[in-house]
Amino acid sequence: MRKLLAWISYFSLFIILTIVTQIGGIVLLFSSIISNLIHKQFRFKKSIVFLSCYLITTIVVVPVLAPFFGREKVIHSDYVSPTTFATVILNRNYVKPELNELLRNVADRIANDRIHIKYLDANFPFLDGFPLIPHLSHSDGKKIDISFVYSEPGQSIDSKKKKSLSGYGVFEGPKTHEVNQIEACRKRGYWQYDFPKYLTFGTINNELKFSDVLNVKLIQSFLTEPNLGKIFIEPHLKKRLRLEHEKIRFHGCQSVRHDDHLHIQL
Ligand SMILES: [Zn+2]
Repeated sequence: MRKLLAWISYFSLFIILTIVTQIGGIVLLFSSIISNLIHKQFRFKKSIVFLSCYLITTIVVVPVLAPFFGREKVIHSDYVSPTTFATVILNRNYVKPELNELLRNVADRIANDRIHIKYLDANFPFLDGFPLIPHLSHSDGKKIDISFVYSEPGQSIDSKKKKSLSGYGVFEGPKTHEVNQIEACRKRGYWQYDFPKYLTFGTINNELKFSDVLNVKLIQSFLTEPNLGKIFIEPHLKKRLRLEHEKIRFHGCQSVRHDDHLHIQL
């Protein structure tokens, strides 16, 4: 019975690690073999061996292998960086080279306005069709989520701070007179539309203000890129920011609300 429970928890861990990081489950299998080959016993042996294997694989091995699957890490610069470092450690920062080029072009253009591109979940390093849960469409290297631009009270330049630990789930919701797509989707039974509110892992920096001016500059800059396919943003923000463009689309009620981030795709 004890052995069965151990197998069930091992299998569950394999599934969870695979869902969250793609490579974690495989690394768990390898690290178990390595751990058994090490005869010396010490505290937290299996966890230490797993973490070492995971970090080496993530930092050294995956970036070398990903190009064989047509993907590479999001290239960081003074004006492109992750909203949270967890995105990088969990291997959720891989894109096609064309998307890196698009990000670089946009970053170069908006650097004059001192706006930084802070990115959220992109794609995993391997296999088209392998979804990056909870974003079902982030499965081909062509998608990336971008944080909104916030400013601190009394400042006109962007702040590098974020409003939640995960970067998701703090909404710039509709005002009373604005179209409320969230209510409309919930009434139609799409309960998951509002789900990102449970994914904040804690809210911070309440003083930050959504910057209409800087977000418009950021979005306009994306729109000038010929390789851009679509941008998803919540309808009330599209209207509030007067964004009229065929590439700005509504993502549909089967998705989740997009007033905590932008979704960009090739
Ligand atoms: Zn997205």
